[in-house]
Amino acid sequence: MRVRVDAERCQGHNRCCAIAPELFEADELGNAHARGDGVVPPQLEAKAQLAMKNCPEHAVRITNE
Ligand code: SF4
Repeated sequence: MRVRVDAERCQGHNRCCAIAPELFEADELGNAHARGDGVVPPQLEAKAQLAMKNCPEHAVRITNE
């Protein structure tokens, strides 16, 4: 599993960073991006799903890579 943030949609609410700080971080403008290469360790997959469901802009993407 891998996460990424669609920068076109992200409005910087930072819910993803609050829910899964291990997977997301915000830039200086408050917009989020995936940490590192976005690969999700198995123990964080539930958090990744939760972050996706809680993004009001539907900007969090999950792929099964
Ligand atoms: S919750 Fe969604 S809109 Fe908010 S910072 Fe994260 S990706 Fe961006």
